[in-house]
Amino acid sequence: MKNKAENRFIPMTSIDSGIGQQVISDLYYFPFQIVNVVFYGQPGEGNDWVLIDAGMPRSGDNIIKEAEERFGKNNPPKALILTHGHFDHIGGITELIEKWKMPVYAHELELPFLQGEQDYPEPDPTVEGGLLAKISPYYPNEAIVVEGDLRALPMDGSVPFMEGWKWIHTPGHTQGHVSLYRESDGALIAGDAFVTVKQESLYKVFTQEQEISGPPRYLTPDWEAARTSVEKLASLHPTIAITGHGRPMEGETLRENLQMLVEKFDEIAIPDYGKFVDGKKD
Ligand SMILES: [Zn+2]
Ligand SMILES: [Zn+2]
Repeated sequence: MKNKAENRFIPMTSIDSGIGQQVISDLYYFPFQIVNVVFYGQPGEGNDWVLIDAGMPRSGDNIIKEAEERFGKNNPPKALILTHGHFDHIGGITELIEKWKMPVYAHELELPFLQGEQDYPEPDPTVEGGLLAKISPYYPNEAIVVEGDLRALPMDGSVPFMEGWKWIHTPGHTQGHVSLYRESDGALIAGDAFVTVKQESLYKVFTQEQEISGPPRYLTPDWEAARTSVEKLASLHPTIAITGHGRPMEGETLRENLQMLVEKFDEIAIPDYGKFVDGKKD
């Protein structure tokens, strides 16, 4: 099979799985198994909308069903914007493209991983963390081939079909990772630049206990870039953040937690040991 990343069913879930929630009138997040996708657009039959990320392998049908409830049947998104190309953010992409035929946008540095040209580093099961990290070799890291209209995000920082939003390059977790930010109300879609659940821990992922964390450890190869990316996002003072994993965080809680993550990045985010840090950390 060509796209291993999306053909493998990963039997992992959380108590929030399948229960979507509106966080701002035009922002809705849909957790499925252990990852979130985001719908941007005012709800209503026939309204324009954009999908951010494409979920776990084989979650396409669930994403389609949820979107149809919010935007009506036969109303494809104007585009799919990818924060990055990890298997848990592109898993449903083939079903979605087949159904909707929408263009797909990603940062130009992420394109080789979406065109079958370059694989991500293998996940690190030895990293400090927990059970989810230990079973991470089960996660596919191979590049996939997006069979569709794949494009680079515009160089001017705008986000197609998302007026008032900017994409921000937030590498570290992957080279071409982006976050999306709307200055008018401080809404942030952070992907895996930081997350609000301890993603290495099977138990915490299941309960979705809120806890600010750096990017998922078992898949993050460049910790210094990851640190700079978190600093960049914290300096925007977002009012609400939807992250790739965990529940949205907002207001004072978000401000304090982001500040803490910046100040204690070594402690909170960077693992004490693991193949992506060995020999690199003091
Ligand atoms: Zn990721
Ligand atoms: Zn992820």
